[in-house]
Amino acid sequence: MTGRPFIVAIDGPAGAGKSSASRLLAARLGFALVDTGAIYRTVALAASRQGIAFDDDARLAALIPTLQIRFAPPAAPGGAQQVLLGGEEVTQAIRTPPMSLGASAVSARPVVRDGLLELQRRLALAPENRGAVLEGRDIGTVVFPDADLKIFLTASERQRAQRRFAELQQKGDPSTLEQVLEDQRRRDRNDSERAVAPLKPAADARILDSSELDLAWVVAALAGEVEARLSARGSRK
Ligand code: C5P
Repeated sequence: MTGRPFIVAIDGPAGAGKSSASRLLAARLGFALVDTGAIYRTVALAASRQGIAFDDDARLAALIPTLQIRFAPPAAPGGAQQVLLGGEEVTQAIRTPPMSLGASAVSARPVVRDGLLELQRRLALAPENRGAVLEGRDIGTVVFPDADLKIFLTASERQRAQRRFAELQQKGDPSTLEQVLEDQRRRDRNDSERAVAPLKPAADARILDSSELDLAWVVAALAGEVEARLSARGSRK
């Protein structure tokens, strides 16, 4: 028995480089990638389209089971994977500043967090997965407290805002660096002060600061460690 897929949890604040690290690591290992922030963003998008307030627990609770959220391989090699809501591709639509704040707002609602637990676990534990990299805020603390490897990736506030600003500029978004920094502070505050599943490293997480480390090197080191543990697991079969 090899047991369940190997679970890697990558948590940390917005803009710390989690997305790139998770994407590269999953690609290198041939693991599924579960971007849980994209799931919260998609809930915010669906809610706003249906005129549901981000704090309307009863309607949010009713909405979640009706949503079919899936990931599909990138349209072009090396690109970001696609996010699908039913048959619609929402990869870009969920990445606007209003949806960032919307995701932060809905994710503070316990009904939303509880309603999405099963989906996150199911996507990671799909029997065809050799392993899964989950990227989020509470993967190592709540979604998979028994993850095989837990990373908490962080970086300085300025550096994180600068990274997000560059991304938005590339997409032609008119936000200024100051606005990005302000939004980020608001989200950081929401995320770390909320009563349920606040952003904090799991006690057994490895804390890495991406302002001080070369991400490609980190990814290579983590991939090596995962492979070694998988082969140790295999030889114990
Ligand atoms: O990672 P990303 O910026 O796409 O996440 C959007 C928002 O979703 C975060 O600011 C956070 O409020 C919320 N989130 C969360 N728990 C997760 C992933 C994201 O609360 N596991």
